[in-house]
Formats: sequence, structure tokens, C-alpha cells
Amino acid sequence: MNTGNNINCGCCGFSTIEFDAIAAICDVCFWQKDFSQEKNTGDAGGLKSVSLMQSIVNYKSFGVMDRTFLNKVRLPKESEIQGHG
Ligand SMILES: [Zn+2]
Repeated sequence: MNTGNNINCGCCGFSTIEFDAIAAICDVCFWQKDFSQEKNTGDAGGLKSVSLMQSIVNYKSFGVMDRTFLNKVRLPKESEIQGHG
């Protein structure tokens, strides 16, 4: 169970990220929690090859932050959708 303590993913917006995780990867869009990217959404540096801005565009288009990871993601659970927004 991972309900209750999750925060919303900076990319897909569902509540998939463990609150105290430093570098959690979202199961829904495969975006990795990254404080510096959340501050600078156009920054493609650091751990990822794509910026958060681009990840969001990719998620809306393909359902994943990078099509490379299309087979790694799943649909959001009901509890995660309820936390949406
Ligand atoms: Zn996500």
C-alpha cells in the first residue's frame, strides 16, 4: 500500500510519488522526482535527458515521459487519480 503519503508527480500529476523519496520514479509516466527540474522545467540537465517541460508534452502525447520507457509504465490507480490536482 502506498496511499496517504504520496505527493503528485511533477509530470503526470497523479499522486504516485512517495512523500519522502529523494529520487522516486513515477510508475505512471516514468518521470523521476527531481527538485531542480521542478524549479527549472526547461532544464534537460542532471539525471534526465529530457526536460520536465518536454516530459509533460511527451506524457500527454504518448502516456510516458519518454517513448523509450513505454513498456515500463502503467495506468494510474483510482487512489492516485483521486489525489490528482
Ligand atoms: Zn508521473
